[in-house]
Amino acid sequence: MEKIKMNVPLVEMDGDEMTRILWKMIKDELLTPFIDLNTEYYDLGLKHRDETDDRVTVESAEAIKKYGVGVKCATITPNAARVEEYSLKKMWKSPNGTIRAILDGTVFRAPIIVKGIDPYVPHWKKPITIARHAYGDIYKASEMKVNGKGKAELVFTAEDGTEERVLIHEFDGPGIIQGIHNLDASIAGFARSCFNFAIDRKEDLWFAAKDTISKKYDHNFKDIFAEIYEKEYKARFEELGITYFYTLIDDVVARVIKSEGGFIWACKNYDGDVMSDLLATAFGSLGMMTSVLVSPDGKYEFEAAHGTVQRHYYKYLKGEQTSTNSVATIFAWTGALKKRGELDGNTALVDFAEKLEKATVSTIESGYMTGDLALISKLTEIHKCESLEFIQAIRKNLEAMI
Ligand code: NAP
Ligand code: MG
Repeated sequence: MEKIKMNVPLVEMDGDEMTRILWKMIKDELLTPFIDLNTEYYDLGLKHRDETDDRVTVESAEAIKKYGVGVKCATITPNAARVEEYSLKKMWKSPNGTIRAILDGTVFRAPIIVKGIDPYVPHWKKPITIARHAYGDIYKASEMKVNGKGKAELVFTAEDGTEERVLIHEFDGPGIIQGIHNLDASIAGFARSCFNFAIDRKEDLWFAAKDTISKKYDHNFKDIFAEIYEKEYKARFEELGITYFYTLIDDVVARVIKSEGGFIWACKNYDGDVMSDLLATAFGSLGMMTSVLVSPDGKYEFEAAHGTVQRHYYKYLKGEQTSTNSVATIFAWTGALKKRGELDGNTALVDFAEKLEKATVSTIESGYMTGDLALISKLTEIHKCESLEFIQAIRKNLEAMI
């Protein structure tokens, strides 16, 4: 069989620990035997980030800007323990944070659904994708403890020195104060990423906040979404037969539970933080959650939603067998290959990526799965696979399909 060609490179960002081991297995078993893999490789493993003073992370994000599509392995975000473990020059920032800041993107997280791994909500038939606004609000807050009587005010000083003041509270005793902000430009970028992604997926977009209580702050989010939708997206949504609607956050949670899935749920920063963990758990397993960063100008970075699975890696280092789920990482690759194929008009590549996804799902549905899924699967006959064994089982199915 002739290997599939790629004209434009995919930006490949390697990572750390167990997911780095899976990364190589996936390439060796599921990709390079079938594709003339054309990637521009960036090693985001912690050691190399340290050696390059983290320049490699910035360069990889610049490469995504240039080529349009990247695929990323999970990486360590250093803390004090990691600084010691890897003798780091300093506590480098989260690579995902750095990349997000450069691409100015929104992160979309969606579960991969397979028979036998049932969501806790039985009538969820299709994935629910969460889009989390990744700028501002309480994540960039200034806070203060108040020790006694006094007056708290919001003060805005314009460039020309004029002041605007709003009373927050007349304190009779001790309490707390918080100042948060957001930017129209960031909210608009978030809105455009969401509308673009909905068009890409041909799915409805839901957005919710609390504008009845927060008449300026949350209302501003609602207004910006509405204005951009009317001006730039309404016609295309109608053409595709998909809808956008805004509702209150407490109304939306009820609708989500009653739904059958199959839509995109745009969340403000805090709502997205909480709700994405809720949905990941409700859909079954972290090993089955994919994540894609989409910039307002349509650049894509695909990855798994989980981390580097450190506990499994230490077992691996001791020479013990591991049963680590590679599904989300495989889907990061297929997502990126499909997007590359769509952009380049490379139907063979799109077709291959779709087959690999089908082969992965059917492997699990035939009872072959890793330990995390074996624990929760409702299938009657289950074969718990080691990490490589699972990937090789997928390869067998894939070869039969090709
Ligand atoms: P984690 O790697 O997501 O793993 C937490 C636990 O979840 C694992 O110990 C494992 O449970 C289970 N798990 C996660 N993914 C799995 C998979 N593919 N297959 C089977 N089980 C899986 O989170 P962590 O241990 O808190 O973080 C480890 C490192 O990852 C940290 O250094 C953190 O900075 C980094 N991280 C990176 C990203 C990213 O690059 N996007 C995201 C999050 C965390 P059991 O141990 O019970 O089997
Ligand atoms: Mg969270």
